[in-house]
Amino acid sequence: MQPHDVVVRGGTVVTPGGRHRLDLGIRDGRVAAISEDGSLAGAGSLAGGPAGGPEVIDARGKLVLPGLIDVHTHFGLTSGDIATSDDFYSGSVAAACGGVTTFIDFATPEPGQSVSAALAERLRAASRSVIDYSFHGVLIEPPAVEEVGALMEQGLTSFKLYMAYKARRLMAGDATLARALAAAGKRGGLAGVHAEDSDLVDETTAGLVRAGKTAMPFFAAGRPPEAERAAIARACRMAEDAGAPLYIFHLSTAAGLDEIRRARARGVRVWAETCPHYLTFTDDVYGRADGYKFVINPPLRKREDVEALWAGLAGREVQVVSSDHCPFPLAGKARGAASFLEAPAGIGGTELILTVLLSEGVAKGRLSLERVVQVTSSDPARLFGLYPRKGHVGPGADADFVIVDPEAEWTIAPGELHSLGDHTPYEGLRAHGRVVLTMSHGRVIYRDGEFVGQAGAGRFLKRGPTRQVLAFPLEG
Ligand SMILES: [Zn+2]
Repeated sequence: MQPHDVVVRGGTVVTPGGRHRLDLGIRDGRVAAISEDGSLAGAGSLAGGPAGGPEVIDARGKLVLPGLIDVHTHFGLTSGDIATSDDFYSGSVAAACGGVTTFIDFATPEPGQSVSAALAERLRAASRSVIDYSFHGVLIEPPAVEEVGALMEQGLTSFKLYMAYKARRLMAGDATLARALAAAGKRGGLAGVHAEDSDLVDETTAGLVRAGKTAMPFFAAGRPPEAERAAIARACRMAEDAGAPLYIFHLSTAAGLDEIRRARARGVRVWAETCPHYLTFTDDVYGRADGYKFVINPPLRKREDVEALWAGLAGREVQVVSSDHCPFPLAGKARGAASFLEAPAGIGGTELILTVLLSEGVAKGRLSLERVVQVTSSDPARLFGLYPRKGHVGPGADADFVIVDPEAEWTIAPGELHSLGDHTPYEGLRAHGRVVLTMSHGRVIYRDGEFVGQAGAGRFLKRGPTRQVLAFPLEG
């Protein structure tokens, strides 16, 4: 037997199927062997031998999870006159320090630009990424649906369409959405939506402006839950007509989840993502003096919505937790103190996905560790054409792992994080469980608070077709 390059020894390996104390043998960046605790590394070789024995990582007492796949990031994005705090280097470092080993960002064309041209720019910008990556193709008007086939051949097998943001010329009309669903679906791809009804949001917000109600506490009222529910209902009907699968980015409401449930009962293959902030905060924060830090679309919701999303995750109704990482500098966010219309929308979070799920989910009895692995790694890998290379603990899979100290307790503060964001909305939150090591392709890239990886080590991933993550028709 060839020697292993690295052995991860005696950790509790968590997969969707359960948890077991195992040794993992890694060779050439891939998992080469999985066997019982103590079988792959002798006690004497913990330091790794000068004779070329494997590097041994002692994971006893720790959890070993497949690396997270954050399928929703916005690195290096500019909104109006303001840029996000993280570019692809700092954003991918932050992600890596939170246990993320793959991210999917967006190739968003300017009006008149092709998605392929936008992708070429994003690929250049992402070349300094420290972890693996891909992009969703954003389809805007005039319709770029013709590009779907060519993009899929380049390994871009998922697409995003905005049902909101008409004024910013990001919105795709219903005809384009219907065509995109069909074009992606018939080729084995997946189209997803930012589900907010543009007219309803625009009319509601305009009403607030007319009434002079643009102070921060009114922010969430301008983008009501009904805007999300109505958009999801419409998109689900279009997916049903097209016989195509549908992905809902950043689900925020119980009403939206109800629509998804109704569509699934009709056999619609609709998958839902939510984000750490929708699982942590309520719209009460908009009444705080620093409420502008939480400006995000869709907005934060009520306590009942937060609980519905947790229950949806536990009950397999919500398939993915991703970050929507998009932090803006405090000076930009603080423009919202005068009027919510002035604050750029977006907050950071890629480094905290696992922390939030462990602290607010597992430690509070809302979610099992197995489900955490499923919603952060194995189901995203299936839906976005990366499985079983990613999101899987088995021979031949990329050796992308995160090791967690399940007992560590700490308090979230900007100084604890690696994002270049100058603040975090999670500041002061008590965390239970902590990432202590991240490995990408068998190399340690984060250990005990320090990023130790390399700029440019990440690889662009050509993705395959989407895979189903629930059986249909559903029972009940
Ligand atoms: Zn987003």
